[in-house]
Amino acid sequence: MINGNTRTCGLIGNPVEHTMSPVIHNTLADMLSHNLVYVPFSVEEGGLKDAIKGAFALNLLGLNVTVPYKSKVIPFLSGIDDLAQKIGAVNTLVRNSEGFAGYNTDMPGLYRAMCSEGIEIQGQDVILLGAGGAARAVAFLCALKGANKVYLLNRSLEKAVVVAEEVNSKAGRECIYPMALAEYRQLPEKSFLAIQATSVGLYPDTDRAVIEDQDFYSRIHTGYDLIYKPADTKFMQLVKKQGGRAFHGLKMLLYQGVIAYELWNHVSVPEETALQVYEILKEKMGIRELL
Ligand code: NAP
Repeated sequence: MINGNTRTCGLIGNPVEHTMSPVIHNTLADMLSHNLVYVPFSVEEGGLKDAIKGAFALNLLGLNVTVPYKSKVIPFLSGIDDLAQKIGAVNTLVRNSEGFAGYNTDMPGLYRAMCSEGIEIQGQDVILLGAGGAARAVAFLCALKGANKVYLLNRSLEKAVVVAEEVNSKAGRECIYPMALAEYRQLPEKSFLAIQATSVGLYPDTDRAVIEDQDFYSRIHTGYDLIYKPADTKFMQLVKKQGGRAFHGLKMLLYQGVIAYELWNHVSVPEETALQVYEILKEKMGIRELL
């Protein structure tokens, strides 16, 4: 029940109408008996600085940040965690005495999701599709967790080159190799973990995959699509058709939320509780598990 002691957290971005984050945080607050409410706030372009100032003045405990503000918010923070600084993107703000400190929970969220599915990164040869905001976090994850070689394929080669150079230099090892998407036939003859981090195949454009050539998928033992709507993407279908295992990104969404919740409330969310929230998320999204 909301009362005089209720703490508020929220999401800033634009658009925010379709977010599943309130389901994650309000369910966690309920299950863990925390007096906390989580609300989405649509912030207009140009209003970001005022939104952060206003959130601090209103005593908000924390915020998530989504498209298009994950990088733009950085100048308005009172501090930034090392990992978020390296990635150059912040998706979680934690209140401190001077303002909000920025964190990135997308990357550890993806790592936790992959661990929970038994997916290894260490020593793996990886194909990373995309060079946008999410792909940058994935490239860091692969570099920091000891992937062998990461082939970063993007439609525009220039963006792939920029991300690869930055990640290699900040991670202190040369493991990201940029390539144009159209050159996928030049990939070495190996067996790969493939991580799909483009927006191709996202609802409502569900009958497309960023690469549709079946031969490409015969080299993939595991495919992880960051997209979770739909929960069975064309990319996943192509991986499975060639005998690989395929996963959607809903667990990444779950764990980035769980980690943000842990930062705000200084708690450790039990795995059993996180998985109960996952079941509720799937139900809300009409997903009957297909894995
Ligand atoms: P973004 O920064 O806009 O990047 C989009 C990427 O998709 C770029 O690499 C872009 O290539 C590529 N792309 C777009 N249209 C393409 C096309 N027609 N053909 C080939 N490549 C195309 O987006 P983002 O924030 O990184 O998000 C990427 C995906 O990850 C989205 O689907 C998002 O829903 C998902 N995501 C999921 C989670 C989660 O918690 N599960 C978290 C974050 C993101 P160019 O550079 O050539 O334009």
